[in-house]
Amino acid sequence: MEIKSAKFKKGIRGTDDILYEALPQIAFIGRSNVGKSSLINCLVRSKDLVKSGKTPGKTREINFFLVNDGFYFVDLPGYGFAKMNLDKGEQTAKMIQWYFMEKVYKRKVVLLLDMKVGPTPLDLEMFRILQENHQDILVVANKADVLNQKEKSAQIKNIAIKMPGVEIIPCSAKNEEGRSEILRRIFE
Ligand code: GDP
Repeated sequence: MEIKSAKFKKGIRGTDDILYEALPQIAFIGRSNVGKSSLINCLVRSKDLVKSGKTPGKTREINFFLVNDGFYFVDLPGYGFAKMNLDKGEQTAKMIQWYFMEKVYKRKVVLLLDMKVGPTPLDLEMFRILQENHQDILVVANKADVLNQKEKSAQIKNIAIKMPGVEIIPCSAKNEEGRSEILRRIFE
């Protein structure tokens, strides 16, 4: 399925009616700097629908984008800022956990990794939280363009061992590798 329209609806920090609308939500989550903004912009073929996590003054909200008038892309704040620990009550972590505990109409989760770095302890912690909350998880390994073929297959194997039982798609927001595969999987 191609993306025909995408527009920002709203940013939330706590409970809001938009959460409970009868539209499927595709939630994007990952460490800050993993390329989450770049990937969403690549999927919707926009340069700046999503502002980079590094944009100064960007409030840490859960941002909802209406896609093809039938889905929400949900951009969660990036985790893994200095000293953040998912279990120690950091505010962003709390917001993320709260979102995944809310019962919504339908939800798929795109967990983004940096393909060169591989899964970090925080990524594995996030994976565990998502599994505990019975989420439908798709792992997307971004920045595949910086690896050669051999490094890519080795990293896919490494991720599959650490994050078993879920589909892993290598991609690059830079050269669009994996883009159609991701779209196919999230809209299926
Ligand atoms: P966010 O914090 O997760 O939203 O990350 P950004 O989208 O702001 O990207 C962080 C940095 O990674 C930027 O310098 C991007 O240019 C770079 N980046 C994002 N995607 C890719 C990719 O697929 N390949 C490469 N080589 N760099 C990328």
